Amino acid sequence: MQKQAQAWMKQATQMVTQAGNDPGEFAGWVEQLSLRDPHIAVPAICALQQAGSTVIPTLIAGLQHPHTRVRRNCVDIIDHGGYGGDARCIEALLPLLHDPIPHIRRAVWHTLFCERCQDETQCEDITPVHLDRVALLIEVGVNDPNPKLRQQLIADLGAHLSDQRARETLETIVKTGSDPALVTTAQQALMG
Ligand SMILES: [Zn+2]
Repeated sequence: MQKQAQAWMKQATQMVTQAGNDPGEFAGWVEQLSLRDPHIAVPAICALQQAGSTVIPTLIAGLQHPHTRVRRNCVDIIDHGGYGGDARCIEALLPLLHDPIPHIRRAVWHTLFCERCQDETQCEDITPVHLDRVALLIEVGVNDPNPKLRQQLIADLGAHLSDQRARETLETIVKTGSDPALVTTAQQALMG
């Protein structure tokens, strides 16, 4: 397995060198992300992560792809490739908080707020984008249609108890919530 991973990395490095920043090549790799065969998908993932900020417009286009696996991979590549600090990526990711697929919405929440993976050397447009995480959690997160994800995002508000809006939202869920699991989650979040 180790050997296989090294071979894929090597293949990806060659792909990046040969592509020479040709957007047509990048778009071809994004199409490969829809395939289940790891021998095709994994080198494409690695190449897109290694290629640097010139792939960002192609990845942003991939966020609109009709194929679920392509959209999901593009979200993860923006995160793991360090591109998540690029203002264009942040803008393009925000509408995907409403993607019809729950695991994509979950990945987008991660990528938007993942400081560990963001790498400014991999970004081109580093105009600071102020994301109001509490406002997003209140406006979008606590209304997520998926019960498990909604529960996780309600719990996330517990990390922002110094913010009055977070506290009030959790208190409202405790008082008026109809789903016992969510009321319990809100209670636990309020305890910090
Ligand atoms: Zn991350």
